[in-house]
Amino acid sequence: MDVAQELQQLREELTRANYEYYMLDAPTMSDYDFDHKLRRLEELEAMYPELITPDSPTQRVGGSVAEGFSEVVHQVPLESLQDVFSVEELEEFDRRVRETTPDAVYDTEPKVDGLSVALEYENGVFVRGATRGDGRVGEDVTQNLRTIRSIPLRLPESLPRLIVRGEVYMPKSAFERINREREVQGKPLFANPRNAAAGSLRQLDPRIAAERRLDILVFNIQYVDGKTFSTHTETLEYLESQHFRVIPHTFCATIGECTQRITAIGDSRENFDFDIDGAVVKVNDLTDREKLGSTAKFPRWAAAYKYPPEQKPTTVEDIVIQVGRTGVLTPKAVVAPVRLAGTTVTNATLHNQDFIAEKDVRIGDTVLVQKAGEIIPEIVSVLKEKRPAGAVPFVFPSQCPVCGAAVVRDEDGAAIRCTGAECPAQLTRNLVHFASRDAMDIEGLGPAVVELLIQAGLLKTPGDLYHLQITDVAKLDRMGKKSAQNLMDAIERSKENDLSKLLTALGIRQVGQKAAQVLSRQFGSMEALMTAGEEELAAVPDVGSITAQNILDWFSSPQSKHLIQTLKDAGVNMVSKAQPVGDKLSGLTFVLTGELSGFSRKEASERIEALGGKVSGSVSSKTSYAVAGEAAGSKLRKAQELNIPILDESAFITLLEEN
Ligand code: AMP
Repeated sequence: MDVAQELQQLREELTRANYEYYMLDAPTMSDYDFDHKLRRLEELEAMYPELITPDSPTQRVGGSVAEGFSEVVHQVPLESLQDVFSVEELEEFDRRVRETTPDAVYDTEPKVDGLSVALEYENGVFVRGATRGDGRVGEDVTQNLRTIRSIPLRLPESLPRLIVRGEVYMPKSAFERINREREVQGKPLFANPRNAAAGSLRQLDPRIAAERRLDILVFNIQYVDGKTFSTHTETLEYLESQHFRVIPHTFCATIGECTQRITAIGDSRENFDFDIDGAVVKVNDLTDREKLGSTAKFPRWAAAYKYPPEQKPTTVEDIVIQVGRTGVLTPKAVVAPVRLAGTTVTNATLHNQDFIAEKDVRIGDTVLVQKAGEIIPEIVSVLKEKRPAGAVPFVFPSQCPVCGAAVVRDEDGAAIRCTGAECPAQLTRNLVHFASRDAMDIEGLGPAVVELLIQAGLLKTPGDLYHLQITDVAKLDRMGKKSAQNLMDAIERSKENDLSKLLTALGIRQVGQKAAQVLSRQFGSMEALMTAGEEELAAVPDVGSITAQNILDWFSSPQSKHLIQTLKDAGVNMVSKAQPVGDKLSGLTFVLTGELSGFSRKEASERIEALGGKVSGSVSSKTSYAVAGEAAGSKLRKAQELNIPILDESAFITLLEEN
């Protein structure tokens, strides 16, 4: 036997063995023999690389990392399917079909939730495979498709050309295994098998795709040369004979039979090793299909029945509260593991306090869960009849589970928030805000550097900023000596900031830059502000009673007191540098329009406010003066119409100086 003959024989034997092993689950060759023959084949191919053929079993994981995927124009477009959501809609579909083809019969199949691909064979050899893309143009993912064991690289019958359509999916078992591995490696988890399959099929490195253990179910012949079929069932049977893994399919004489089959598929979806997102009903006769034709988007001879989201009962083992970076307390139910739409669910979102109260979810309850946006499961309802005796209503904590500070409910929503000024859960966000331009304005202290400092254990509260050592900072990743010094300088400079900037930095609810400026000017020092009573606070312009209460609450918390003390000890300025508020312009409202040459808008406003005046954005009969700079526009016209006194820049300066 010459080399070419031996190679040919080895390939045939190994291809056969692969098929028996992966497709028939009935191997006739021992693993030992298989490995032995495969090794022999590899050796021969290494010696005679010119004799390697693309259908050789050694070629499943070959090739190198691709730079990208080239485009493939589909010879026959990969169409979409029209959706139906009820039996009535399905019957309506049937009526429309029968208008054109009165004797139509159907085939019903599960709708695999994966990625559509087209596989091209020439003379029986797999030559190219592409994703669906937009249906007309897809991407060439041949290398990755070759790694799928159930895609035959050579077919028993060598037709000149054959294009097969199928759905690539990640078996549920592989999905769970891969996510377990990713969890251990600290990699982000795949949300569902479909995302995992999509990510894997578009891997540029076929070795990674191979590890993902993708599979395929084929369901259509897109194009065939050298053979004719009269029904869909015939084509599927032919594909089976050609060693493809074919979608489970059932002949249905009437739409009623289709409905029964759809129900059966829905009921047994747990038993499939692939996710489904519906069932497909197809007219079986190929001549009927031709008569029915297609709309611009989908064939008129098929419909995809979409199941309502899967729901499962499980029990609530615990209700835990997580604190997010913005301080919001989010409750989560820990549930007994249950399989749902392709993944094992172990917890469900409870959204917020109101949600728990409205559904009256209690620890120990049996609940129905479903996946809403496919990813995070939610509780649909509580099965009250199954409630164990002694189950008590859930009491939402009044303290932050992370730092123990009091929690408050947002004025304008259902969110409950931790008020801890030093809460570890909110540290990153609090620090980024603390250092931001309108607050302490510490240049170089953005989110990335804040994260680095926290990770290095150098920051546990905002106060720690003022105890950083340059030697520690310079050791951080990507932080040279120079930038460490710059950061230290910026922190040092921030100690001299006006009280208003510090007040902004504290992140008291509803105390933004503007309120901080007013408060700082009004009270003159942190001490005075901290001892102010509610009435005194609420009397300040721009500070209402709710804000006054927020300020009182904030300063009454031990964490806040600790933070202020730390900052004070570090030498951070605690007094206002602004001129004390005058009252010469009090009771007067100004509108600024156009461009002043001597001040920015902001400066002009500050000057007016420093004298007790108010600045408003629009002209009304209550406006006392309009200050008009260059190129003043509609506000000036409006002021003229309302006969409001208009000051030009020099008149404005005179007014300020006089006072
Ligand atoms: P849609 O994208 O929702 O319009 O549905 C069409 C998709 O369903 C196509 O991408 C098909 O690949 C996919 N599909 C899954 N299983 C089947 C099946 N048994 N028959 C036809 N299409 C299927």
